[in-house]
Amino acid sequence: MPKRDLIEPLADEIKACRKCGLWRQRKNAVPGEGNLDAAVMLVGEAPGYWEDVKGRPFVGAAGKILDEMLSKAGISRSAVYITNVVKCRPPENRDPLLSEIETCTPYLDRQIKIIKPKFLVTLGRHAASYILAKVGIETEGITKIHGRIYEVNLLGSDVFIIPVYHPAATLYNAKYRDELDKDFQLLKLRLERGW
Ligand code: SF4
Repeated sequence: MPKRDLIEPLADEIKACRKCGLWRQRKNAVPGEGNLDAAVMLVGEAPGYWEDVKGRPFVGAAGKILDEMLSKAGISRSAVYITNVVKCRPPENRDPLLSEIETCTPYLDRQIKIIKPKFLVTLGRHAASYILAKVGIETEGITKIHGRIYEVNLLGSDVFIIPVYHPAATLYNAKYRDELDKDFQLLKLRLERGW
């Protein structure tokens, strides 16, 4: 079946979802968007204020940084697929609860199985710990593991997982911004090298 025929009904399912309490305060669920044949899938934590307003991922201040990093790495935003671990905005941008992550992530798993990316870039600690735990890797904290490349089989496909800082964490921290930049340059090199 074409990927579009799988991803669109899934997005509709997410937009109507009431499986955890986060639906109560959302304006819009944010299923994700992008190129269905993307080699690179980016997974953030949860929608923020502007993402909730617009129903699209990474459209606020963190999205601007992400766009800058992608652009510097020569990767077009239209070439990647972007989503989050949790699809609805937690109130006041608090961390998602474990129960919310557990309830919501079957959607992310289904998206990964449909897109089948070659590189899965996790943005921030929540995305890193969820994805790496699925392949039996315990995370040691994002400051230690960012920029590493984990070659694993995830949900039936071979994939390179690259954890990086969440762009929002680099808003007021130049050191983190430099590290994020370096990690995207690493991704660029691997893409140019053909994995
Ligand atoms: S966060 Fe996920 S599980 Fe919770 S209501 Fe939104 S889509 Fe459903």
